[in-house]
Amino acid sequence: MMKIYINGKFYDKENAKISVFDHGLLYGDGVFEGIRVYNRLVFKLNEHIDRLYESAHSIMLKIPLSKEQMIKAVISTLKENKLTDAYIRLITTRGEGDLGLDPRKCAGKETTIIITDKIALYPQRLYKEGMNIITVSTTRNAHEALNPQIKSLNYLNNIMAKIEATNCGYEEALMLNDSGYVAECTGDNIFIVKNNELYTPPECMGALSGVTRETVLGLARSGKIQTHEHVFTRHELYVADECFLTGTAAEIIPVVKVDGRVIGHGKPGRTTLDLMKKFRELTRREGVKY
Ligand code: PMP
Repeated sequence: MMKIYINGKFYDKENAKISVFDHGLLYGDGVFEGIRVYNRLVFKLNEHIDRLYESAHSIMLKIPLSKEQMIKAVISTLKENKLTDAYIRLITTRGEGDLGLDPRKCAGKETTIIITDKIALYPQRLYKEGMNIITVSTTRNAHEALNPQIKSLNYLNNIMAKIEATNCGYEEALMLNDSGYVAECTGDNIFIVKNNELYTPPECMGALSGVTRETVLGLARSGKIQTHEHVFTRHELYVADECFLTGTAAEIIPVVKVDGRVIGHGKPGRTTLDLMKKFRELTRREGVKY
């Protein structure tokens, strides 16, 4: 029976409930993280916790637990569920308030939820063959409106983009920022390879500061691949040798077609496959053991 953590207590799935007045539900007012566990190793746990607290700080949400307490809560949820491999969804909402927007009404009611489950974002076939993605007209949130670096519960921008892509029969959407530069996909960062060098848009172009993104940049650098956090347009993407997406749930997934343009040879490229292998090896040996 799956046990879900809410504010320090464990509940069966059927009884894991929060108030309908929670501003996480009413307004998407809260922050979250998605974290992976590989064979009892929690991958990049501290990095995810740091990003959660940074997102919370930015929206002036006070997480009632210290980082150490939060890490303990995550580990105890994994133990409670006797999991060796899992996807962890960690959430802190503003908590219960009234029907107005004012977060001050929720002070002291912040609610932390930890769900441990499995996730399969894309079919396995796509990891071998590569994905075919499409640019959508929904642009990534402008940083002066709702900074995409805040991993908030308000994911409608990404969901609107996902709907556009799936309406057209595509698995994933490429999102541009409001200046037309490549930002990221709906739940993943984007990379291209050109002349054996690796490029990903800088966060200020409208990308989340992805933990997998950072890991992949590190793996590339230690493999003596030049890396660039550089602005690029769809043209550079169309004429790239390789393209792939990164994310905690997706890991590294090759992209072989964008807006009908074949990328490189139309198959997952050498650098992509090499990084996929190195990433898999890293997840098997690195992490917080429990
Ligand atoms: N961009 C967005 C919009 C995301 O939601 C995610 C997944 N959390 C990512 C990128 C990838 O980030 P990470 O590698 O930290 O999972």
